[in-house]
Amino acid sequence: MASTVTLEKTTTIRSGGDDDVASLTMRSPLPKGKDGSGSDGKGRCCGHKYELVSYDALPEFLKHNEFVVDYYRSEWPIKEALLSAFSIHNETINVWTHLIGFFVFLALTVCAATMVPMEYEASSHIVVKTTGMMSNHTGGNPLVLIDGAVMAMQALRNASVQPELASAALSSAHRVARWPFYAYLCGAMFCLLMSSACHLLACHSEHASYVLLRLDYAGITGLIVTSFYPLVYYTFLCDPFYQSLYLGFITVFGAAAVVVSMLPVFEAPQLRWARAALFACMGASGLVPIVHKMLVFGNRPEAVLTTGYEMAMGAFYLAGVVVYATRVPERWMPGRFDLAGHSHQLFHTLVIAGAYTHYLAGLVYLSWRDMEGCSCN
Ligand SMILES: [Zn+2]
Repeated sequence: MASTVTLEKTTTIRSGGDDDVASLTMRSPLPKGKDGSGSDGKGRCCGHKYELVSYDALPEFLKHNEFVVDYYRSEWPIKEALLSAFSIHNETINVWTHLIGFFVFLALTVCAATMVPMEYEASSHIVVKTTGMMSNHTGGNPLVLIDGAVMAMQALRNASVQPELASAALSSAHRVARWPFYAYLCGAMFCLLMSSACHLLACHSEHASYVLLRLDYAGITGLIVTSFYPLVYYTFLCDPFYQSLYLGFITVFGAAAVVVSMLPVFEAPQLRWARAALFACMGASGLVPIVHKMLVFGNRPEAVLTTGYEMAMGAFYLAGVVVYATRVPERWMPGRFDLAGHSHQLFHTLVIAGAYTHYLAGLVYLSWRDMEGCSCN
């Protein structure tokens, strides 16, 4: 199927004759005009002369997926590449899925900062209430995930408007650190922002592509590493040995992954599976502290609830990795999903779903440890 497409493109280039590059790019442009010519001519893309080209016309450094055959930007100036966020090409949805995701996580961070009491505030009342509600409503059933997190947030909000109740419980308050939760939110925002920037600007030059792809890989690594922080820090709050062991392991693993991703060979299209496997292994190593958590706290609704969220997150990420590596659905119909529906867009959506699920888990960890502190021993 791919060879058929290539043949068709080659024919088009040759038939362009003396019109050289212009005729090549004329074939690629956006959705066909009203006259059905298939060309919208110059100036239709972003109001300037830079036009979209087909896969065959790309320099080697921009060839990542031969099943997306058209609507590429190639070696555009930075200004045009930036402005192309507001025009249609095969990266538009990739840019916006993660840019919108970034703003969603920014809003979640502001929301958490204003609604979740800081660690230096009295919080035992909040969490007693939260846990009581959670236990009553979920009955330990991990399937009632969303409901539980909404109630957790509601309870935190109630507490923030009833400070007199919180202060009454001050004597028994525990003040668990907030940094692992916010580190995760920062990791998610960094990942989403770097991804957006990469999709928007990597078309500029080979050097820009190299740098931005490294930042993109570093962002993915950062998201995975910081995802461990709330899980490990709050679960093993009472066990500094395992807390340090798991936090140290994932941080070193992440640093090694960033170093490996610096190698130019790392972005070779044929190493797509190796990249997917590296990030998948890093994420899968989270199973160890999760199983450990269930062995120690398996009878607690908070542990069951957070594990439910983590399993949902794992399912989203796993589906994302599979879609990324297999390049489904565009491999079945090359060219059909160039603008919308190709695998990378699905991958982005699944990443956001997984990251949001983990945010909900973070809220539950906070409420759990605010109540108990280290009294679990
Ligand atoms: Zn991406």
